[in-house]
Amino acid sequence: MGLWRQLRWRIIAAQMLVVLVGVVTLIVTADLLAARTVDPALLPVFEQAVLQALVVAALAATLVGLGASLLLAREILRPLRQLAISSRRIAKGHYDERVAVPVSDELRDVAQSFNQMAEALAQVEQQRVTLIGNVAHELRTPLAGLEGYLEGLLDGVLPGDPETISAMQHEVRRLRRLVDDLQHLSRVETGQVAIHPQVFDMVALAQRIVAQLRPQIIERRLDIVVDAPDGAVLAYADPDRTAQVLLNLVGNAICYTPEDGCITLRVRGDATCVQIAVEDTGIGIPAEALPYLFERFYRVDPSRSRASGGSGIGLTIARHLARAMGGDITAASPGIGKGSAFTLTLPRGQGDAGGEHDKMSARIHADATDCHR
Ligand code: ADP
Repeated sequence: MGLWRQLRWRIIAAQMLVVLVGVVTLIVTADLLAARTVDPALLPVFEQAVLQALVVAALAATLVGLGASLLLAREILRPLRQLAISSRRIAKGHYDERVAVPVSDELRDVAQSFNQMAEALAQVEQQRVTLIGNVAHELRTPLAGLEGYLEGLLDGVLPGDPETISAMQHEVRRLRRLVDDLQHLSRVETGQVAIHPQVFDMVALAQRIVAQLRPQIIERRLDIVVDAPDGAVLAYADPDRTAQVLLNLVGNAICYTPEDGCITLRVRGDATCVQIAVEDTGIGIPAEALPYLFERFYRVDPSRSRASGGSGIGLTIARHLARAMGGDITAASPGIGKGSAFTLTLPRGQGDAGGEHDKMSARIHADATDCHR
């Protein structure tokens, strides 16, 4: 029974069955034909000759059948065995393991899919290792700051005055912000953030965000305008999450635009999409950095962003949210010192915004836009 479960023996048995059926059919048909067509006097000689031919043919067919079965079994089983060995190695953490791609179409498909899966696992593992390294690196800076202040206080080098305490509080806030961002990111990446799409007016949302942020804009000596067509531009998305994404984009624009700069929220809509671009006249982004902006912890100028408390996660979260709402975010910049534009695209809404604007304004919080404090 054990042997019967092995593919090799099943292939051999199938071939032998074909040989057996062939031999039996030949014997029966030869007998029947001989009885009708051969002279009875010659029948024994004829039967003898047929029998000899059959024995030779049966032996040859058996040998060829066995050889062919073994070759076929080897061709099928070797890659399968290799797959099993490689799977076990991957399970033990050897993510660089790959299998050779066989010639036959079906087995090639299996091997290629396996290699793709191994590649994806290797990438996930690499991301995991990088993430841990990044988190450790990000935690080290504020912790080292706090440690320095505490040592200074203990040694009496630093006075225990409000200024020192406020500097320590700043480091604690950075830690807190990083932990909050990480928690938010993990929820967004695992799809745990609830999205409640509805039809709302993007122009109204843009105007409310601008009104909300105006004091901060004035404080930083910037200007902000909404450029939109007359009337409503309806989007179909979660207004809370859209506000969150826009607050992040405008917050960055405020952060990276020097005094006397201008921020524009440009709203446009076509038959299927609504676009809102957050454009600034700020420090701009070099072309080589654009593809990495939405990666976790990526900052164009790490020292500058870290000094302002930026975790480098904001855009990652924003893009995840945009995609979860069926849209996306793209970034563009003509170059350093020439400003940047981040465009949020969302599905077009049909019908009526349903008086959501007033509710929406109450839900917009300014805390995400304070240039990372
Ligand atoms: P951070 O918290 O560091 O701002 P983000 O993910 O929001 O993280 O942004 C990632 C990086 O993208 C920033 O560190 C900055 O280098 C760059 N960036 C984002 N928005 C702008 C902008 N409007 N102008 C110039 N650079 C920007």
